[in-house]
Amino acid sequence: MSYIEAQRDGIPMKRDRHGKNIYYPPCHICGGPVYSWVYKPGNRYTCRACKEKDSTKKHIKALVCMRNMCYY
Ligand SMILES: [Zn+2]
Repeated sequence: MSYIEAQRDGIPMKRDRHGKNIYYPPCHICGGPVYSWVYKPGNRYTCRACKEKDSTKKHIKALVCMRNMCYY
């Protein structure tokens, strides 16, 4: 039950207009709230901004690799 665990861990939550719980666990990179339907203790949550930063990093890495003639 993510509801009890979220309460125990002090995770901010909200109930949407359909009566579904929404959790805001902190992002493991920036600490900002991450919108989530489920809360699992021990899960690493990443906010959208950090996810985008991460995929940009991967993209840059791939480009560098292409210049060094290594293709995936
Ligand atoms: Zn973040």
